Amino acid sequence: MIFSKVKSNFQALKDGKIDLEQGLISKEDALALFNIRTWDECLKLFSIASEVRDFFKPEIEITSTVHVTNVCSVSPKCKYCGFAAGTSSEGYVTAFKSDDDQIKKSVLEIEKSGIERVSCSSGHGYGGKEVIRALKAVKSVSNLEVLVNTGADLTEKCVIELKENGIDTICCNLETINEEVFNSVKPGESLSDRILVCNLIKKHGIELSSGLLIGIGESYEDRVDHLFFLKKLGVEEIPIMGFNPYKNTPMEDCKKCSAIEQAKTIAITRLLFPNIRITSPTPTIGPELLQFALLGGASNIATVIPKNHPLNVMGVGSPKTGNLIEVVCLIKELGLKPKIK
Ligand code: SF4
Repeated sequence: MIFSKVKSNFQALKDGKIDLEQGLISKEDALALFNIRTWDECLKLFSIASEVRDFFKPEIEITSTVHVTNVCSVSPKCKYCGFAAGTSSEGYVTAFKSDDDQIKKSVLEIEKSGIERVSCSSGHGYGGKEVIRALKAVKSVSNLEVLVNTGADLTEKCVIELKENGIDTICCNLETINEEVFNSVKPGESLSDRILVCNLIKKHGIELSSGLLIGIGESYEDRVDHLFFLKKLGVEEIPIMGFNPYKNTPMEDCKKCSAIEQAKTIAITRLLFPNIRITSPTPTIGPELLQFALLGGASNIATVIPKNHPLNVMGVGSPKTGNLIEVVCLIKELGLKPKIK
């Protein structure tokens, strides 16, 4: 029943009879879709979500990564974090700061590989200065599109400076808008600081990326409320990240979020936001399970590393990143077109 309603709404959207902002499903529909259980229903959901993605996004974007620094002032550290120095024996373990030369060398290899977009992320404690430095280094040697992510650690002055230096997207993930869950897994941060930064990014007319970390104790109702909150914020990109336990962290024994759960969340997000960039980072779904994300309607695959990337990049969520050649193969195997030069 619900699938025929989605299909007729999609037709109405294509005919210009309903507004894009409205999406294809209501809050109640979204919750009902989160509760589907059978493979048959999941496949119907993936089929319509992929059709919507293909209509608005004929090519699958690929985003590479440069990690600027893993030194993070947040204390206590987020309970799932394996990125910051010293948090996990699987992660970076020791502290690093990529200098401008290392960033430029990485970026040159990324651009040479045909990838057109790079994400630069940094731990907290710099008020945004480290990602400004990275942005300047990337733009000085390449034409790559740049996303920066330094969470809530951004002042308004830095947001303006990022804009003046040609930033394409700023990412500030809320992870979950269930404040109790947020405070429990991110005891060193506050949700309101992250919301404030999202509003600052929108205030200055910069593309906002803000995503969900799923499988950390939030309910389906929380995910639906979160997605509608992002609708109000006016996001242009939503990363869907599945929780993946890192060794030695306080959450190492928690259950990994399944690929099917991530794909379902991506598909429901696609029906709510038909034309935006929906991102699946390779480490959080697992590079070998990427096709689930694509079947769910993802339009951007992130943390993709070309062969000659000079830095040893670890993923966030899990240390395993996606190799460019393999990612391109997986995209093509589904009959999709990778956006690559
Ligand atoms: S998840 Fe990000 S903000 Fe939290 S401790 Fe790790 S690096 Fe810092």
